[in-house]
Amino acid sequence: MIVNDRIVTYMHSLEKSNGQLCDEMEKYAHENYVPIIRKEMESFLKVMIQIKKPVKILEVGTAIGYSAIMMASAMPDNCTITTIENYDKRIPVARDNIKKAGLQDKIKLIEGDAMEVIPQLEDKYDFIFMDAAKGQYINFLPHLMDKMLPEAVLISDNVLQEGDIIESRFGIERRNRTIHSRMREYLYQLKNMEQFDTSIVPIGDGITVSIYHGST
Ligand code: SAH
Ligand code: MG
Repeated sequence: MIVNDRIVTYMHSLEKSNGQLCDEMEKYAHENYVPIIRKEMESFLKVMIQIKKPVKILEVGTAIGYSAIMMASAMPDNCTITTIENYDKRIPVARDNIKKAGLQDKIKLIEGDAMEVIPQLEDKYDFIFMDAAKGQYINFLPHLMDKMLPEAVLISDNVLQEGDIIESRFGIERRNRTIHSRMREYLYQLKNMEQFDTSIVPIGDGITVSIYHGST
């Protein structure tokens, strides 16, 4: 928790159910250790989508399709989602969930490593949800910038790493040090590149909300 536990519990107590399918997916995710978005992130994402009203959403990291289905419930009718996942055990589960939600025409799931898939995408996007391997965000960024429409919104999940981000490199377990320094670099870039305006929001596991001002 990066903010007070009781505040998070209180916030959760005010969240509504997102329907039977989402409740079942949430249960599956918890039983199978699938890291889906936190409860308070669901309403945040849905509200951001309704403010932006995107026409093309790109998600990096589908897992079992939970956040994609959640975003689809808030997006305009003319909008579609492309989502990328490389873990072969999760892909059929995600496909099945997308089908159960009746969203096969709205959510396109691409199988593969985002590092290879992103440069090959033909479309440009006006809303991107980055939620894959945290140590890779910094590597995905230039490829994603190539695929952003002007004024695109980029939301990146899990950027404060359960609060570890503020620890010194030596306070971090050795195996997590690379991710730690790459995430700091990522945050530095988003806050300092002239193409982005970025706000770091301590919700869930910490997120960034950025607006792209590049010209493509
Ligand atoms: N957005 C989902 C959760 C995603 S969890 C939700 O909230 O419902 C992160 C996912 O990213 C994992 O399933 C992992 O397998 C996938 N992932 C990690 N690195 C990836 C990469 N390089 N390419 C594609 N998928 C990746
Ligand atoms: Mg996440």
